[in-house]
Amino acid sequence: MPIDLRSDTVTRPSAGMRRAMAEAEVGDDVFLDDPTVNRLEQRVAELLGLEAALYVPSGTMSNQLCLRAHSQHGDSVIAHQHAHILLYETGAPCAISGLQPRTVDTPDGTFTPQQVEALVLPGNIHHSRNRIVALENTHNRCGGAVWPLELFRNVRDRAHELGLAVHLDGARLWNACAATNTQPADWSAGLDSASVCFSKGLGAPVGSALAGCREFVENCRFYRKQFGGQMRQAGVIAAAALYALDNNLERIAEDHANAMQLAHLAGQAPGLTVGAPQSNIVMVDTNAAMPAQTLADILHNEHDVWVIAIGSNRIRAVTHLDVTAGQCQAAGLAIQQVAELLMKQGVA
Ligand SMILES: *Cc1c(COP(=O)(O)O)cnc(C)c1O
Repeated sequence: MPIDLRSDTVTRPSAGMRRAMAEAEVGDDVFLDDPTVNRLEQRVAELLGLEAALYVPSGTMSNQLCLRAHSQHGDSVIAHQHAHILLYETGAPCAISGLQPRTVDTPDGTFTPQQVEALVLPGNIHHSRNRIVALENTHNRCGGAVWPLELFRNVRDRAHELGLAVHLDGARLWNACAATNTQPADWSAGLDSASVCFSKGLGAPVGSALAGCREFVENCRFYRKQFGGQMRQAGVIAAAALYALDNNLERIAEDHANAMQLAHLAGQAPGLTVGAPQSNIVMVDTNAAMPAQTLADILHNEHDVWVIAIGSNRIRAVTHLDVTAGQCQAAGLAIQQVAELLMKQGVA
């Protein structure tokens, strides 16, 4: 059995989740007739402290629908330069919404009200229009980093004063909550839009949701059709999301403890630098002489530990509900062993 730490998207629906899916009451959601989808949307809106929610096929579609519904072509979006919406969504803000990115560069994906202010340009005939600020919590590319709640709210409030819509990419908002002992609405209430995923740490096979005020969500429903994301008896998959909220939300802190343990073990190896993970993502930096891909290949071929080389000297390991504490410990020890071997060999 491989220890698959490539992403928290690799989980498979459990027996209980499959049962909930099999038993789901369904209808045609394009006619608003699917009771399970309706229940999920209601639940998400309440959880996020926003008026309404919309179930969508993916986190990418969820984010991009929000950006589309907030803006006109030629407007701008302020975001971190390694934001998922800019880095991992195929250039969709430009391709679909015609947005010009204005980026902030910080080590942990967070930024300040002053950094937002600095990217707001005078409203005249020369500049793209100031329109959206997008925040990501936890921050994927920055190693699952968590925003400080107060800073998050300060950025939100300043952005509103500046007339900007504030969007949250909360694909892993559940992890941010577990890490800070907060509730989802502590972050999302008062935002113009928020997106959450059921297919990451919550372990559902598919699905995300966006939320906002009723009018905004109905506008997103229009664009969802334009993007081809409307679904029919989607209750079958929405049931998995509801099951995940009922059963897999409370346990997310276990993933963080497992990530910490893995990081601690890997960090003891020569030639590796491992920061303490803030949530379920562990970034392991290798020294210049040790190619990350070599480390990842040996882990895969000789230890059945699957990680991703996300840079020439960085591997990423993500914990989730389909790996146990024991497996994460084994992975940490395997990383130690392989790094020791490579250091002894002088790699190359
Ligand atoms: C995974 C992820 C998404 C959405 O991914 P999909 O694969 O489209 O569901 C969005 N934002 C962040 C930060 C993510 O990690």
